[in-house]
Amino acid sequence: MKETQKGQPGALDYTRAREKMVQEQIIDRGIKNPRVIDAMRKIPRHLFVPEALLGRAYGDTALPIGDGQTITQPYMVAYMSEALDLRGSERVLEVGTGSGYQAAVLACLAERVYSVERIRSLLERARKTLDRIHCNNVVTKLSDGSYGWQEEAPFHAILITAGAPSLPQPLVDQLKTGGTMVIPVGERNSQKLIRVRKDSRGVSQEDLLECNFVSLVGEFGWAKREKWSPY
Ligand code: SAH
Repeated sequence: MKETQKGQPGALDYTRAREKMVQEQIIDRGIKNPRVIDAMRKIPRHLFVPEALLGRAYGDTALPIGDGQTITQPYMVAYMSEALDLRGSERVLEVGTGSGYQAAVLACLAERVYSVERIRSLLERARKTLDRIHCNNVVTKLSDGSYGWQEEAPFHAILITAGAPSLPQPLVDQLKTGGTMVIPVGERNSQKLIRVRKDSRGVSQEDLLECNFVSLVGEFGWAKREKWSPY
């Protein structure tokens, strides 16, 4: 990527890098939903990464965003968004705002996004970025998202962007009948992405792919790790 005098890529370079990302990481790897592809084309991922990592904003990886957390790999963001099969009229709950990038992508695909984050500094930065790009249909809240967002429930779709030890019951309860939830479930360092569907007969589950997310920490997630822990 070309750099400006300040040592950072210019606006045109970001547009080119994003287009290359969409072609090679999203389309060539099998993402088909045109609305998801458009959203990945539209949202400027470089605004959601720390300044020191600007040159890697459109790379094929998750990147650190501070507090031991990460912005999800672009392919995984597109994959999870596609798995929710959104039409544009849904109310979506996201647990784990992080950088705000996934919320911005979901905001292009649904009516309204409710995003919950437990770390204040991350949420404040994400909110600023979302405001900067005029994502007016994303509402955010600081809290333990393993409880969901009871006041706004039920949701047509729920996306958890942190790995859970098991399916948090409040989230299952807050899913509308006919709704879809996508959630990584498994060990601390490796999970299966699972799609949960709720219909009039009950709840069904389908394994999608192997993944590795940071931990969902909270009442219906993992316990917070102590500083001295060897794990
Ligand atoms: N969707 C984010 C990915 C962030 S990584 C993005 O696009 O950048 C997962 C995030 O989940 C982290 O920021 C972490 O702090 C948050 N998280 C973990 N457990 C949580 C909980 N119980 N409630 C809300 N957020 C949680």
